[in-house]
Amino acid sequence: MYGKIYVTICFLSYLTIQCKQAHSQQLSSAVKQFVAINSDTIALIHTTIIDGTGGPAKNDQAIIIIKGRIAKTGSTKNITVPSSANVLDCTGKTVIPGMIMMHEHLFYGESLPPYYLGVEMPISFPRLYLAGGATTIRTTGSVEPQTDLNLKKAIDKGQMVGPDIDVTGPYIERELLPIPEVQFIRNPEEAAQEVNYWIARGITSFKVYMNITKDDLKTVVSIAHQHGLKVTGHLCSLTYREAAALGIDNLEHGFIPASDFVTDKKENVCALWSVTPSLNKLDVSSPAMKDLMKFLIEKKVTITSTLPVFEPNSGREMIPGGGESALAPQIKEAVEKNYNAAGKDSSDAALFKKEMAWEKQFVEMGGRLMAGIDPTGAGRTIPGYADRHVLELLVEAGFSLPMAVKICSLNAAEYLGRDKEIGSIEEGKRADLVLIDGDIQKDIRALRNTETVFKNGIGYDSKKIFESVKGMVGLH
Ligand SMILES: [Zn+2]
Repeated sequence: MYGKIYVTICFLSYLTIQCKQAHSQQLSSAVKQFVAINSDTIALIHTTIIDGTGGPAKNDQAIIIIKGRIAKTGSTKNITVPSSANVLDCTGKTVIPGMIMMHEHLFYGESLPPYYLGVEMPISFPRLYLAGGATTIRTTGSVEPQTDLNLKKAIDKGQMVGPDIDVTGPYIERELLPIPEVQFIRNPEEAAQEVNYWIARGITSFKVYMNITKDDLKTVVSIAHQHGLKVTGHLCSLTYREAAALGIDNLEHGFIPASDFVTDKKENVCALWSVTPSLNKLDVSSPAMKDLMKFLIEKKVTITSTLPVFEPNSGREMIPGGGESALAPQIKEAVEKNYNAAGKDSSDAALFKKEMAWEKQFVEMGGRLMAGIDPTGAGRTIPGYADRHVLELLVEAGFSLPMAVKICSLNAAEYLGRDKEIGSIEEGKRADLVLIDGDIQKDIRALRNTETVFKNGIGYDSKKIFESVKGMVGLH
């Protein structure tokens, strides 16, 4: 009888393959080719663990994974490895929680003056995120929300390789910027229509952009919160203080877009060219900035750090974290040309350092910091490569390595309300783990040797995935 119902459902859907997968939770061959480890019981032994809680690294640890969950963790000598386990000796290696990255996009930003394009990357980007250790991402502004939703569905069904996705709705923005992919709103009523439309289709977060008004934000926050969803913003027309007072949950790009210090700022107007000079003038330990941070913390506003997208040209890699080979040749040529033409601006580097210091201050004052990469800007930030590089940058900013890991895992899990499930290496949680070949305490660059990324206890071959998308970024 069950068989009959099953056949009927499949017949009606006209997609037999999909039915079989939904029924037996099997992975498609497109996914299987990247799976390195898939056993009911897995034991990682003799590894160093940085567990995502901010606590110190622990040496010679074991993790027992049973049916996709962390069943047991502790010192290797105190743990009994089940006889049925697939045992991996991880001597000399490090395990961190699967990274939860909070300013990712599924499109690549391409500067083509006078336009700026958002080109959807449905094939390369989901794979790159997972290969680089991100097991959960938020898309933080989408240009093809329907594509992002379809990708999420395909990944959840085991038909495609990629991370868990919190799909953010389309940018909520008024007309001004030369980005043809953005659907602009003209008033708060249109903002409400847009938000309601996408909530009904499965969007789970929203992002407001640089030219919205206070009333637009009020409307978006009110509807999103009624549905238990959160709102973030990359602001300019509104100050951080105004948005926090109106109930925004999260602010993007650290403090670099804060227009709070522009002296002659007009209400609801973005004076873009005045923001950076106003921050350049501000002392790194400015009481005005501390005051703002205090207010944001009181209002429980989380900040997202996106250091890779701001990496200056001087003394830095062209592609932060490596990954030049991921770019399509003609895209790489264009990025290289812009990189060389941009010159070596020392004020960029100074503001970058200041931003790092402000993020550290915010955390020391009790603020919650998360992180992401933002694969837009000058096209230099490439998913996966930049995600693991975020940890290098947070350490450069002065955070301890365990704290940097926490910013990229448990802090984000808490923001998403998923910290009982993911975000740290603790018994009972989902086995989302990154196995790194090397001791990242001794050499942070060993992070780039991502060996296996476990999502739900299934181990994916990081290098094989990276290899599979070489030369694709910018194309698809
Ligand atoms: Zn962005």
